[in-house]
Amino acid sequence: MDANTLEGYRRRLVEVRRALAGEVVARTREGFALGTDAVQDMADEAANTYARQVLLGLSERERRQLLEIDGALARIERGEYGICEACGEPIAPARLEALPYATLCVECKANQEQGEG
Ligand SMILES: [Zn+2]
Repeated sequence: MDANTLEGYRRRLVEVRRALAGEVVARTREGFALGTDAVQDMADEAANTYARQVLLGLSERERRQLLEIDGALARIERGEYGICEACGEPIAPARLEALPYATLCVECKANQEQGEG
């Protein structure tokens, strides 16, 4: 992978990271606000609990995504970016375009998902 292509991925990762971090912070705040709001009756309480779970669920997933992005940035630093962690083969450019923080090539990802059932 040439330096310009790599720099392009790095910029995209940094951008996605910045956007995600902002969203996680915003949603976490929203989650706390919902949790501390005065609850008027049982129906409201149930609705608030549900909304809080959804919000925290989203931010949890996004925190994982942030970790994956950090991992990809670290691999760029180490010169290992774009290499499948399972088989050591280069990950297809089309896959990196779609998922810049992919750690597995298409074949290994498919194998992993089969293994997970
Ligand atoms: Zn692989």
